Amino acid sequence: MNQFYMPTKVICEEGAVKKFGSAFMTYGKKALIITGRTSAIKSGALADIKIELDNNQIEYEIFSEIMENPTMEIVVKAAEQYKLSNIDFIIAIGGGSPLDAAKMIGVLLKNTAVDPMDIFTNGSLTSLSILTIPTTSGTGSETTPYAIITHHGLKTKVTPMPRVFPKVSLIDVNYYMTMPVRVTKATAVDALCHLIEGYMVKNSNVYSDGLAIEGIRHFALAKEELLSGEFSKDMHLHLAHASTLGGMVISHTGTGIPHGMGYHLTYHHGVSHGKATGLFLSGMLDLYLKYCPEKKDKIDRIFEVLGIKDKKGLHQLVVELVGGFELGDELKKTYSLAMSKNTRKLASHEFSISLEEIETLYVNGLKG
Ligand code: NAP
Ligand code: ZN
Repeated sequence: MNQFYMPTKVICEEGAVKKFGSAFMTYGKKALIITGRTSAIKSGALADIKIELDNNQIEYEIFSEIMENPTMEIVVKAAEQYKLSNIDFIIAIGGGSPLDAAKMIGVLLKNTAVDPMDIFTNGSLTSLSILTIPTTSGTGSETTPYAIITHHGLKTKVTPMPRVFPKVSLIDVNYYMTMPVRVTKATAVDALCHLIEGYMVKNSNVYSDGLAIEGIRHFALAKEELLSGEFSKDMHLHLAHASTLGGMVISHTGTGIPHGMGYHLTYHHGVSHGKATGLFLSGMLDLYLKYCPEKKDKIDRIFEVLGIKDKKGLHQLVVELVGGFELGDELKKTYSLAMSKNTRKLASHEFSISLEEIETLYVNGLKG
């Protein structure tokens, strides 16, 4: 079915917070700012938003303890800390980790009577208004309704049920300039995964495909600089577009098996999300060639826009950007079994994928 729904107002402009920060001020009298430990300060975004809040006499509190791959425990801690603080809306500043955590903190602050674990089963819960200022260009969390939360009970990362689109996202390329090289490369690969997975999976449609190809084109324009490790503002802008478009795409399509497989590398080995996912991208394309040969044209289009020859070239590009990862055979089997039970993620594809095929994806993806 061809449908499109994107309720987030996205403004991408240098100086966006100063120029359009007043858009944030209509959501109430008191804000909770959610950040990681350092990125909101280093990027300059926190200082900018504080000026706007002060100028508009909006009170605020700051919770700056969100770690990478945020846990359910930190979400619950923030919600407990501010449940009596009369918070009207949330401003999330940072990479995907603070943005995702903010969405679920917003759900718990709006629904103080529910058991926090209900977010994993109850999709009808709504959130306080969420406004985002991203400082990484990869997850697309600024335009997705998803949050990815580390669930120690399940020993992996999980998408809670409530869907929370940000109300407004202000994107300013200046905030990306302080990202470490490693983070820039890994988050760029995450954006590429969203664009390619979203372009291929079962729920892709004419609107999401248009956005996906445009996003891949922006990634391609950033590619050479990204490989070189010397980054310009222009390159960051291309990646910002790739990220935001990727978010719009997966809001409609969801992600595919590379994301499901990558969560195990991140949870058990601390591999960054973009790297953990990107290593399985070309393996997913193998499965499409095998089971959906009618989608070969789409695959060729990806290579053409990306400026690479074939799926081997795609894997090489990912490895050149983020490096490989070695894993023992036993662990490959263990994570394959866990992945084979992730029915939600497997349902993203129009064909079933056997345990042996998942093992092959781990083996081929982690060859380096
Ligand atoms: P991140 O975990 O938010 O941040 C990675 C690291 O980069 C942190 O150390 C962070 O510092 C630092 N950093 C971020 N921006 C910076 C800047 N401008 N200057 C200096 N340092 C900066 O990274 P991410 O890759 O953006 O987010 C990953 C998370 O997003 C994962 O949990 C992943 O599962 C999730 N995700 C969500 C979606 C979605 O649809 N919602 C999609 C894909 C992935 P601080 O710790 O100080 O902030
Ligand atoms: Zn991702």
